[in-house]
Amino acid sequence: MLERRAGGEAGWNGEYALVEVSGVEKTVSTETGLLYVVATPIGNLGDLSTRVGETLRAVGLIAAEDTRHTQRLLDHIGIDTPMISLHEHNERERSDDIVRRLQGGVSVALVSDAGTPLISDPGFRLVRSARAAGIELRSLPGPCAAVAALSIAGLPTDRFVFEGFLAQKEGARRTQLEALANEPRTIIFYVAPRRLAAELQSVAEILGHDRPAVLARELTKVFESSYDGTLGDLLERCHVDSSMHKGEMVLLVAGAEESDDISAADVLLNALLTELPLKTAVDIAARTSKLPRNTLYKRALEIQSENSVNGQE
Ligand code: SAM
Repeated sequence: MLERRAGGEAGWNGEYALVEVSGVEKTVSTETGLLYVVATPIGNLGDLSTRVGETLRAVGLIAAEDTRHTQRLLDHIGIDTPMISLHEHNERERSDDIVRRLQGGVSVALVSDAGTPLISDPGFRLVRSARAAGIELRSLPGPCAAVAALSIAGLPTDRFVFEGFLAQKEGARRTQLEALANEPRTIIFYVAPRRLAAELQSVAEILGHDRPAVLARELTKVFESSYDGTLGDLLERCHVDSSMHKGEMVLLVAGAEESDDISAADVLLNALLTELPLKTAVDIAARTSKLPRNTLYKRALEIQSENSVNGQE
């Protein structure tokens, strides 16, 4: 069965494409625009792909995090597509407005100031609303600082977690990091330069000074550089090397070593808990184990409750 649908490419001019569908004949909106989620360079304009240029030229509207910022990119490639702003303070109302335009047949490109929209950037609400409204989406993949940094870090890439920015308040940051203490996957953080010292301090304190880590700075730009070592090394260096604090940066930390440390700690805690109160057992285990104290405390509670279920208490 053939279905008449709006053509799938930017610049669709109102003609229909015939699309094979199976099952009963259904009526679809023939004039719905597409929402393109478009990655833009994180520093080097040479990373702007031909397809991105063509799409930004062809769509009816560009939704930009900061229209003045994106204007410079459009000027660079000689494009004068109309823009509207979509940022964290207006995303809710703007999303409804943009979805209505998409439903009215206007194709829209979503861009942020740099990199991939939605990745520590606005766009999530718009994408969710567009999907809920049955709008078709297309991704134009490209630069993303987290992935660029991971690709050169030399830390395991088979599994990783992206934490975005750490909380600014120390207490909330501690809680966030404590939840990551046993995370076995490589962890990626975005770091604001003025917070580098305080954040490295918290990360080293909670995840461990001896964890391998990499700080990747100014990716794709003239002063691109990266530093590797342990978290302790990076912390020490950041106190003496002022260039380390300049520009944009991504911090990557190796995941916690898995099972060996935990099983060794379990054996020790099991033995100690048969003779000693929980707090003393954890204090003694913390002197010999590489694991953080709160991890040992949680393990001790678990062992104690398993033992009581098994009638060993
Ligand atoms: N959406 C972007 C992306 O895809 O990477 C991230 C936007 S977020 C608001 C900005 C943060 O990304 C910066 O504070 C920095 O941590 C990281 N970042 C962006 N560009 C970078 C670059 N060229 N080098 C290193 N880090 C960068």
